[in-house]
Amino acid sequence: MEKITQFVEFVRAQFQEPTAFIPLHDPRFIGNEKAYLNECIDTNFVSSVGEFVSRFEKMCADYTGAKYAVAAVNGTAALHIALQLSGVQRDEEVITQALTFIATANAISYTGAHPVFLDVDADTMGLSPVAVANWLRDNAELRDGQPYNKSTNRRIAACVPMHTFGHPVHLDELLEVLNSWNIPLVEDAAESIGSYYKGKHTGTFGKFGILSFNGNKVITTGGGGMILTDDEALAKEAKHITTQAKIPHAWEFNHDRVGYNYRLTNINAALGCAQMESLPKILELKRELAHKYEAFFKDSSWKFVAEPEGCISNYWLNVIFAADKSERDAILEYTNKNGVMTRPIWELMNRLPMFSHCQTDGLENSMWLADRVVNIPSSAIIPGYHSR
Ligand SMILES: *Cc1c(COP(=O)(O)O)cnc(C)c1O
Repeated sequence: MEKITQFVEFVRAQFQEPTAFIPLHDPRFIGNEKAYLNECIDTNFVSSVGEFVSRFEKMCADYTGAKYAVAAVNGTAALHIALQLSGVQRDEEVITQALTFIATANAISYTGAHPVFLDVDADTMGLSPVAVANWLRDNAELRDGQPYNKSTNRRIAACVPMHTFGHPVHLDELLEVLNSWNIPLVEDAAESIGSYYKGKHTGTFGKFGILSFNGNKVITTGGGGMILTDDEALAKEAKHITTQAKIPHAWEFNHDRVGYNYRLTNINAALGCAQMESLPKILELKRELAHKYEAFFKDSSWKFVAEPEGCISNYWLNVIFAADKSERDAILEYTNKNGVMTRPIWELMNRLPMFSHCQTDGLENSMWLADRVVNIPSSAIIPGYHSR
């Protein structure tokens, strides 16, 4: 108990908020946000036309090193399109992790495919290459070079690891497994803008990666997402089907397939351009806070999760592990009652009613983490900045 009170005091001291509520993560508008939004209104370009969308796409491509970036209305929609353009079809299977935010599993479901929920690694909290290799060894076979599930006879069409809270998964090992089974990689990098695996930005390792700019993420457009790819033809396809699959023409309404109204508005993109300009500063401040937490928890029984070896993490949401579930609950109870917001990790996907029939493996690490993870306040600390 003493430790919990010390922790609350420590957080309050860092945020220089002796009494006010401290959120888990909130946005920082410290640059050109208002100027760019005003520009949208002054020019009347608020919706589907305007230069901020392509500017935002270019900034995201340049920043991540992806050859192409295509904006979408949110990260979930971006993942839906990435999976569809990876060739995922109805009644096929997509491997992902059981310990993820619901959007990953939902986007897989939108394609009509069946998610397979495998275990995560304890160090990254993201999809375990060993779990994937073992599951494929026991359940899959190659038929004419294509991976099939032997018991369901469904094709295994893609694999979607998620870089949990910004910590990159073991991508080299995962890619080695996936390449040997001819399974395309689609990274859910919704939480990991600013996170690098061996010097390369997350979301740029597979056929596609996606980013999210939801309000609780490292930077935000209000709502927004980005599809990353190195493939020019696929990037063109992504733009086409996220914009109602309209064939460009000065006045005719022609569409060549069922498309989606998944485009990002110019207003959201304007906010995105300003946020991208501030991203390095925000990341630097978040990293400083993570280092302070790391030092604070150094001799504690609550383990602070540091970035995996060889990786740079954006430290989107800082994590500690409680000793067990009852200690976790005590931390959540005390901190939230005292105005310091903390949260447990998500319910495992296979425990939700609509996914309870899905295939899984032992999920040993997932269950361990589900009982112990506590997210602690992680916003960039800017003295004098008040969001409310
Ligand atoms: C935020 C998030 C998404 C996408 O969320 P949107 O709110 O649709 O932008 C997808 N996957 C994960 C793991 C996320 O955390």
